[in-house]
Amino acid sequence: MLDIAQYDQINPPYRLLMGPGPVNADPRITRSMAAPLIGQFDPVMTDYMNQTMALYRDIFKTTNQQTFVIDGTARAGIEAVLMSTIRPNDKVLIPVFGRFGLLLCEIAKRCRAEIYTIEMPWGQVFSPDMIEDAIKKVKPRLLLCVQGDTSTTMLQPLDEIGQICRRHGVISYVDATASIIGNPLEVDKWQLDGVSVSLQKCFSGPPGVAPITLHDNMVELIQKRKCVESGIRRDDEVDGSDEMIYSNYFDLDMIMRYWGAERINHHTEATSMLFAARESARIVLQEGLDNAIARHQINGKAMLAGLQAMDLEIFGDVSHKMNNVVGVIKPKNIDDAQLRNLMLSDFAIEIGSSFGPLKGNVWRIGTMGYNARKDCVMQTLTAFEAVLNKLGHKTKYGEALQAAWNCYSADK
Ligand SMILES: *Cc1c(COP(=O)(O)O)cnc(C)c1O
Repeated sequence: MLDIAQYDQINPPYRLLMGPGPVNADPRITRSMAAPLIGQFDPVMTDYMNQTMALYRDIFKTTNQQTFVIDGTARAGIEAVLMSTIRPNDKVLIPVFGRFGLLLCEIAKRCRAEIYTIEMPWGQVFSPDMIEDAIKKVKPRLLLCVQGDTSTTMLQPLDEIGQICRRHGVISYVDATASIIGNPLEVDKWQLDGVSVSLQKCFSGPPGVAPITLHDNMVELIQKRKCVESGIRRDDEVDGSDEMIYSNYFDLDMIMRYWGAERINHHTEATSMLFAARESARIVLQEGLDNAIARHQINGKAMLAGLQAMDLEIFGDVSHKMNNVVGVIKPKNIDDAQLRNLMLSDFAIEIGSSFGPLKGNVWRIGTMGYNARKDCVMQTLTAFEAVLNKLGHKTKYGEALQAAWNCYSADK
């Protein structure tokens, strides 16, 4: 028998989350999650669902009717799109420039796709020509690409990629989880067919829900795979002409019927997460999308200036860095774990380590969402400089803070 007296009420310490995500939630969003639960077909709830669709159309800059949320973290959105579009043996092309490109390969493999990749060294991005050449060679059914890969901090330019795909009859999908709100994303203008994101980065929300948007090109492929589950099927229901979707939870055909006028009883919408998704989008749109991007740009710039003034080397091609995260190359004489532990124990600030080839050698520092603020930047730089000096990387005290501070006054 466990001793229940040993289990205290949940009461985590306060941390300033300055890593690559998750970041501190905006208190308005966590408050919205404490609202009373209502039934999933209550007209108040279905109204909230419709409003959430409308809000995310503005967030994604799209008129796509099929814009809604998938319950689960970012990869639930990815998996829903991939499971619902890729049939076994379909050819997919994946440009890989970091860990999240590899995740697309991993999920596509489990959809039994025939996978083709092109690769860039971590810290670089592809030119549109490289992607178009690969499309001509492979002739894939789908192109799967990450916009901002937090593992390398790089932002893949996408403004020409959708058009290239349309020209070659290829359906495009983008994971924009890390980049959205911090950097421009124009779903309709860039002609992207499917995009998914999640709340825990620049939206300042909790992980657990994945907004997605689907162009009619993609919807059409998905609807051909229609197979409504037996318990909720109407007698006159006819299956699609194409192979069924090999997942029930991520069957986007059924999920679209749940969010649409039919309102089939597919799953129980995660009520509190829906509230969080609606509040996250509402807050961003009230600030204004362009203002939010500009805020990430100025705070990212200040963080970068501060780090450079500490004589630290920045990882990757800085001209293609996301606004909202920066990679810092660890000085040889500093112990990675020791630095991050001191940041956490003595300053309550979390920064990120790295994956794969960068593991132990690069720190990732975010300025995202609720934490893309001057006070968070100044506080993080102050602590980082103090810890670096304590561990043996000597800086000219005060120069970094001044360099960061100057970025703000120059813009005002
Ligand atoms: C952070 C991030 C994710 C997160 O996926 P989860 O399932 O929420 O852990 C996905 N994709 C990208 C590009 C990311 O940066």
